[in-house]
Amino acid sequence: MPAGPAASPLAAGLACRCPQCAAAPLYRGPFSLSVADRCASCGLDLKSHEEGDGPAVLVILVLGFLLVTLALWIDAAFSPPWWVHLIIWPPAVGLTGLWMLRVAKATLIAMQFRHRRHDFDA
Ligand SMILES: [Zn+2]
Repeated sequence: MPAGPAASPLAAGLACRCPQCAAAPLYRGPFSLSVADRCASCGLDLKSHEEGDGPAVLVILVLGFLLVTLALWIDAAFSPPWWVHLIIWPPAVGLTGLWMLRVAKATLIAMQFRHRRHDFDA
């Protein structure tokens, strides 16, 4: 069993930090979705996590609903030319999707760590 108290899953997820110490980044880089092999601060083995498709499904449903609703509202309210949509939405989907995927994945890993700590001991 890893030593030390587990960080709050929500706090660790929002900050994309280690689920045990919340002191080091969970991911390999600031724009990466690859989880580091070990925590740089406490040494927790992060390779054994298994979040599956959960974060992607959650992000697709929530982000799809929000952005399609926003796009329809902007089109109805302001009637911009089609090229404005072409400029606005691809970066909005990409950046928001990346951020939401990182947070959702980190939160699910932190919840997994809190409730199934033995899987991280291997
Ligand atoms: Zn740590």
